[in-house]
Amino acid sequence: MRTLNEQVPAPADVGNALIGIRGGSEVSLDLRLEAVHEGILVSGIATVEIAGECGRCLNPIGFKYGADIQELFYYEDSDEFEEDDDVDQYWVIGDHMDIDPVLRNAVGTVLPFQPVCRDDCLGLCNECGANLNDDPEHHHEVVDPRWAALAQLSEAATEDVATDKTSDEREEK
Ligand SMILES: [Zn+2]
Ligand SMILES: [Zn+2]
Repeated sequence: MRTLNEQVPAPADVGNALIGIRGGSEVSLDLRLEAVHEGILVSGIATVEIAGECGRCLNPIGFKYGADIQELFYYEDSDEFEEDDDVDQYWVIGDHMDIDPVLRNAVGTVLPFQPVCRDDCLGLCNECGANLNDDPEHHHEVVDPRWAALAQLSEAATEDVATDKTSDEREEK
C-alpha cells in the first residue's frame, strides 16, 4: 500500500458551458494505492477547483470540490481485463496509471447542468436584465392591456410631433 499526496495540473475542458474545473488550476490528490490481485486499487479524494456562472443571474460561481475516487486499475495481463469500450475500465500501463479519465468521470458526472449561485437565487429581470438579488423589490409597472392601445396612440402622437418636419419633407417629394 502506498499513499500519494500530490498537486497535479487539472485536466482541461471538464464540465459543460456553464460550469467545470477551472482551467489551469491544480488538483490536490490525496490517494491510496493498494496492490490487489487483478491490479491496483486507487481510492481517496481529488480536490478540484470549480468555476462557472450562475444559470439564473450569471454571477461567477467558484468553490472547491472533493471528488471521491475509487477505481481499480487492472494489470494488462489480468484475466478480468476486457477490451470493451462501453465499460469504463482503467489499467496499469507499464508502471503508469492515467488518472485523467477517472477525474473527468468523478467530476464531470456531478456537475449540475443548471448551476445556481445559491438555491434561492432570484435571477435577472425579464424586462431589463437587472439582477433581482440586488433589489428583490424590483419590478416594472405593468400597463393594463386595455390601456396599452391608448398608450401606443399617445406615443405615436408624440413621435408625430417630433418628426413633423421630416414627414413634411417626405410629402413634398
Ligand atoms: Zn444567481
Ligand atoms: Zn427590470
